[in-house]
Amino acid sequence: MPDPLGAGFEEPVDRNGAFPRLDDAVRARLRAAGKVREVEPGEVLFREGDSGYDFFLVESGAVTIVQGYGHENRIIAVHGPHRFLGETNLLTGSPPYLSAVVRDAGEVIQVSAERLRKLVADDEELSNIILRAYLARREILIDLGAGVKLVGSRYSQCTRRLREFLARNRMPFQWMDLEDDEEAEALLRAVGISAADTPVVISGDGVLRNPSNAEVARLLGLGSRGAAPPMCDLVIVGAGPAGLAAAVYGASEGLDTQVIDKVAFGGQASTSARIENYLGFPTGISGSELAERATLQARRFGARMVVPAQAVGLAADDGHYTVELSDGSVVNGRALIVATGAQYRKLDLAGLERFEGVGVYYAATQAEAQMCVGDPVVIVGGGNSAGQAAMFLSRHAAGCGLMIRGGDLAKSMSRYLIDELENRPQVELMTYTEIVELKGETLLEAVVVADARTGERRELEARALFVFIGADPHTDWLRGHVAMDDHCFLVAGRDLQGEDLAAHDDRRPLFLETSRPGIFAVGDVHSGSVKRVASAVGEGSMAVRLVHQRLASG
Ligand SMILES: Cc1cc2nc3c(=O)[nH]c(=O)nc-3n(C[C@H](O)[C@H](O)[C@H](O)COP(=O)(O)OP(=O)(O)OC[C@H]3O[C@@H](n4cnc5c(N)ncnc54)[C@H](O)[C@@H]3O)c2cc1C
Repeated sequence: MPDPLGAGFEEPVDRNGAFPRLDDAVRARLRAAGKVREVEPGEVLFREGDSGYDFFLVESGAVTIVQGYGHENRIIAVHGPHRFLGETNLLTGSPPYLSAVVRDAGEVIQVSAERLRKLVADDEELSNIILRAYLARREILIDLGAGVKLVGSRYSQCTRRLREFLARNRMPFQWMDLEDDEEAEALLRAVGISAADTPVVISGDGVLRNPSNAEVARLLGLGSRGAAPPMCDLVIVGAGPAGLAAAVYGASEGLDTQVIDKVAFGGQASTSARIENYLGFPTGISGSELAERATLQARRFGARMVVPAQAVGLAADDGHYTVELSDGSVVNGRALIVATGAQYRKLDLAGLERFEGVGVYYAATQAEAQMCVGDPVVIVGGGNSAGQAAMFLSRHAAGCGLMIRGGDLAKSMSRYLIDELENRPQVELMTYTEIVELKGETLLEAVVVADARTGERRELEARALFVFIGADPHTDWLRGHVAMDDHCFLVAGRDLQGEDLAAHDDRRPLFLETSRPGIFAVGDVHSGSVKRVASAVGEGSMAVRLVHQRLASG
């Protein structure tokens, strides 16, 4: 068994500000906020699965970060003098999924998590250092596959669901594929579980057999805890960029704000490997980092963020709205912002469902990229999402075919992306091409494509097919309650006409306000939206101003 205290392990280099050493002045401020104490080798400062943990700064000696302390003893890092411990879950109050154990005797400064959160809110220098380090550490832990363990077969839809849920929520996890990982079977034997009970999620002492996403969220402490108050000022449904922006502005402007999302905070944007066109990030920002930053910001202002929570119905009552959730509970709000975005369209191909999640994908994140390392992949679509997916996947796949039905990519894709793709030899643009058949037994092996002009067919080897061909809005739960356009996107503001204005006594809905006073539509779900992160954020923040206006007018 490896040495649990990491004897001989070097401290990691400070990559992207992940492991800074704090100077005298900053350490003095932390000392004033906490207590200084001596620690001995073997002392556990926090343990995976604890309900929460304090902030520790190493003054002297060394502390080891260990996964599975006492049994697995996987050493993740060692922190020496003037480095601090923890990662984003310290700020969100979620349980740690790694343990911190003193390796070399010395002194630590210990600050309670609550005090630390306050300090971060008030001390800009400290806040920048800690936030940057914690976000970078989360990235490193995701790459390392540290933290939670998921044991399940690559052919299982439930395994796929859980992998997606963990990845979308940016939970570092190690996926152990029952099909080719001998350690997976050994681990199952050790916890007394048969393969039939998989997928299994293991974190600390918690073991869940074929759990729902909600059970995993509870185990890992994702999102806010506790029930919503009987009446909120503002309920935001959907926590993509639009919903998160509304949450930041709503909570920071004093509204009691409840945010719910059926999958994860960040929405579609969090599946984007790199957003290049969002203001203020000249070198781009990964969608997941943007989402993580926005979520922390909204929580810091006091927004309650709940995941997974799916809105399935709506009722109106005496000046407020009741959102019905899939678990049977309800959330009441005096105003409602709908930010539920849209779902990408599917190709009309026989057997498509059979391959969904195991060869056919609608997003290109790290989770999908892992599945096609060194394999040929094809991408269908001519928009920016398809272009970004091609750029990202070409770093992992053996080759990327980018297919469009027409002959000109410039009609639908931004110029900067086209230029980048032209300089990427691994990406082959296939114009006038459509997929007509998928081939493969359990896994996708090839696609048959046809020339859209001549009908001529040919077979292309492909282990993965990525589809980016437009979207349908998530508005089923609002049918019959608010006006929609022909494609079921929500109509708002001046676009409302005739009978759709009936509920507005003065016949003058506010900008972004739907046919029901006090219900606003923002982001991709809004009819005529431009499907961009920046416009979603803009509408989400604007809507809060209009919510104030509506609430003030009674
Ligand atoms: C791969 C990819 C790359 C992209 N790249 C870029 C880019 O580089 N630049 C750019 O500007 N735009 C980009 N986009 C588009 C951009 O991500 C979207 O325009 C933006 O995310 C829309 O934000 P939104 O908040 O309106 O909706 P979404 O991001 O779709 O969020 C909607 C949220 O609502 C939740 N939800 C849905 N139904 C319910 C329900 N019934 N109950 C509770 N929650 C629900 C969903 O789970 C989701 O989290 C990209 C999109 C994709 C998919």
